[in-house]
Amino acid sequence: MHAVSETVERSAMLAMWRGTLHRCPNCGRGEMYTSYLKVADSCSECGQELHHHRADDAPPYFTIFVVGHIILAGVLALEQAYAPAAWVHAAIWVPATLVMSLAMLPRVKGMLVGLQWAMKMHGFEEADTPPSQPRQTS
Ligand SMILES: [Zn+2]
Repeated sequence: MHAVSETVERSAMLAMWRGTLHRCPNCGRGEMYTSYLKVADSCSECGQELHHHRADDAPPYFTIFVVGHIILAGVLALEQAYAPAAWVHAAIWVPATLVMSLAMLPRVKGMLVGLQWAMKMHGFEEADTPPSQPRQTS
């Protein structure tokens, strides 16, 4: 006979991956967002409450950190290789920065919400959590 454990381990890697894909960290099927960066109050598939997250300014911080390093490396490499005019740099790197930032921001936020869920931070405790298996569909 198996003892049913009250505490269920949550995989941080899986939860962060699901968040990166804009999915619920608990079931991986429900949408995390109701709009571009607005996290749903709860998962439409499994009912997991998602409003507990406190991503705050961490997503833009990490997005700026990553995008800045990539763009700066590109600027320096292009300058070293071809030394193009300033307008060429501007024409390449300004749109690249905007596109990369806007693409990364919801993914980074989803990853951080997933991490907070896996670490049971900010109200993502066991008591609020339905079973992590997706519902049976027959
Ligand atoms: Zn869910």
